[in-house]
Amino acid sequence: MLNNEKALALEYFGKRKTFKQVDKIIDEFARSFISLNGHDRHSITYCIPSLPEGILSFYALNKMNIRANFVSYHFLQTDSDRYISDNESSTLIVFDKFYPLIKESLEKTDVKKIILTSVASFMPFYMKTMAGGDDSIKNVEKMGVKLNPKFEYINMTDFIKDGKKRKDLIASQYKQGETAVHLYTSGSKEKERIAEERRMKSPEELKLLIEEETKQGYIYVKDMNFYQPDRIKDQHGRRWLKCEICGEIKRDNNYIIYRSAHGVNYGRCIACSHREY
Ligand SMILES: [Zn+2]
Repeated sequence: MLNNEKALALEYFGKRKTFKQVDKIIDEFARSFISLNGHDRHSITYCIPSLPEGILSFYALNKMNIRANFVSYHFLQTDSDRYISDNESSTLIVFDKFYPLIKESLEKTDVKKIILTSVASFMPFYMKTMAGGDDSIKNVEKMGVKLNPKFEYINMTDFIKDGKKRKDLIASQYKQGETAVHLYTSGSKEKERIAEERRMKSPEELKLLIEEETKQGYIYVKDMNFYQPDRIKDQHGRRWLKCEICGEIKRDNNYIIYRSAHGVNYGRCIACSHREY
């Protein structure tokens, strides 16, 4: 970074920013978030295509150690509750063209503030009018969509201006092992999402999480009928077996022999395999 200050970092419709300028803009975005939400640490949900303000404001959140939650409008249309509320987001950044598609489902959420943005928000001044203007709230109204009084709407351009007015010192609050971002690949990629979340965790956090899931898994399977012909799996998709010798129920990684005369859910655990009879 120090050697690249003058190198080109970003170009959008002819607007060019060097790394030094981008660094300054990131801090301005951080100040915009402070202006909007104070030092509230709840995650921010994004529902936008790839736009400079999305990337730059993400880096601002990253610096402030606030999680970003990038969701496609397809998801918010059908699962807004889950994708917003599970992440405890009360602030959304939404692309104006996506807003009509998700507006009804947002009613089910605890969203309070909606920052609307458009393709023009980050364009060079002389191009903005051609692209329909950067008043994203007006753009939504022009589509014949009524704004919902339940929400506070903010124009991206005003949001940006608010940050420029402030002088807060923005120091990096990076903490190892904390989740920086939630990304969703596609509607059915739940496993990948979980994998990504885990990748972000520190070894200690991961160990605690696995212990907790194992405990929950045990509670989930302990009253099941282990004689059933189907493999017994917990709610996390992990296999459990009952030891035919000691009778204990354990995760499959505790077994040497899987399946016995009793069926697929019985085996011989490592401890019992080492014992002599
Ligand atoms: Zn055993």
